[in-house]
Amino acid sequence: MVDVASRLREAIDAKRDDLIALTQDLLRIPTINPPGDCYLEICEYLANRLKTHGFEIEMIRANGAVGDSDRYPRWNVIARREGKRVGDCVHFNSHTDVVETGRGWTFDPFGGELRDGKIYGRGACDMKGGLAASIIAAEAFIETCPDYAGAIEISGTADEESGGLGGVAHLAELGYFDPARVQHVIIPEPLNKDRICLGHRGVWWAQIETFGEIAHGSMPFLGDCAVRHMGAVVSEMEETLFPALAAKRTEMPVVPEGAKQSTLNINSLHGGQDELPVDFTGFPSPTVPDSCRMVIDRRFLLEENIDDVQREIGDVLEAVQAKRENFSYELKEMHRVIPTMTDRNAPVVQTVSRAVEAVLGTQPDYVVSPGTYDQKHIARIGRLHNCIAYGPGILDLAHKPDEYIGVDDMIDSAKVMALSLADLLGSHERP
Ligand SMILES: [Zn+2]
Repeated sequence: MVDVASRLREAIDAKRDDLIALTQDLLRIPTINPPGDCYLEICEYLANRLKTHGFEIEMIRANGAVGDSDRYPRWNVIARREGKRVGDCVHFNSHTDVVETGRGWTFDPFGGELRDGKIYGRGACDMKGGLAASIIAAEAFIETCPDYAGAIEISGTADEESGGLGGVAHLAELGYFDPARVQHVIIPEPLNKDRICLGHRGVWWAQIETFGEIAHGSMPFLGDCAVRHMGAVVSEMEETLFPALAAKRTEMPVVPEGAKQSTLNINSLHGGQDELPVDFTGFPSPTVPDSCRMVIDRRFLLEENIDDVQREIGDVLEAVQAKRENFSYELKEMHRVIPTMTDRNAPVVQTVSRAVEAVLGTQPDYVVSPGTYDQKHIARIGRLHNCIAYGPGILDLAHKPDEYIGVDDMIDSAKVMALSLADLLGSHERP
């Protein structure tokens, strides 16, 4: 193994220019989501690249998934390369979509410029750098250990930034993440090269609507103001709910520290007339609002269950109802994701951990993400729990202007991935 490990490292060092060029090529395909541009183009690019390294290619469009249309088709690519003997399958999954650029860039967001050992562009760290590192790792491994057992898969999937329904969720529904087919999954999201991400907190999105009665704004006593009812809901949350959430701490190693508890964000709050269009120059009309809507984004812990999370909000609303006359409301769930955390003793965790130690000389940190990523679909739909996120890049740079990926970091994490492949798929030295 020592011998194979050093040959793998050398092979990856020798591919430095290839890694840079590959990352730049990926960055120059502007796969902005929404709306989901250039998915076919990036899938074809990946297919062509991997075909020349002996991978079988499947292109899968998520027909009928949310967001899928003939104008913006949700294309995904899965490349699989069989080994020489029976064994496990290791799958690297990367999302190909990036978020909008936003303002404040000093580099061309789709230029892929290399400066001082960093490659700049939208998606450089989240997560085209990780995708490129996993491809280089697989190619170096295949060249170094051509007689490996099992199989290697690399997928490029759509829509992670908008929930993953046209990407990993769709593939999982089709059985691509069935544990009979795939045994180990590594998602090269930018969690830093010395950290292994075991999972994420849960999510519960809901809409609360309070109702009132419309009347002339000069005589509000003839109506009933839905915004004031909602104000009472916010006060009740401030008094009872937010302190209660802050007191719920988790054993999950969530980073950053502030997310090691239950949280709730009031995502939006709107009551009364719609905001006037920017090109409208007149005034609003005087009315008492008869509806006020709040969208909440509740992040919850492995120690909590979704029924309690829902009940907690119901309790807030009932407490307000007990205090206010004519208080009526509706509570609607919009979206839920169950928290997931891979066991620290799972084979993929143990393997990548050993590889991090071999490459970086330090034990990895085990972390849990405050927000979700595609692991949710692999765990819930695929029922595959031997899954982690591990990849190069600094999470804080994701979605920011002048996002970049360090070339050295990609090299190091590619070495970790290649050593992990050697460990899981058996080097040719094994019987
Ligand atoms: Zn990402």
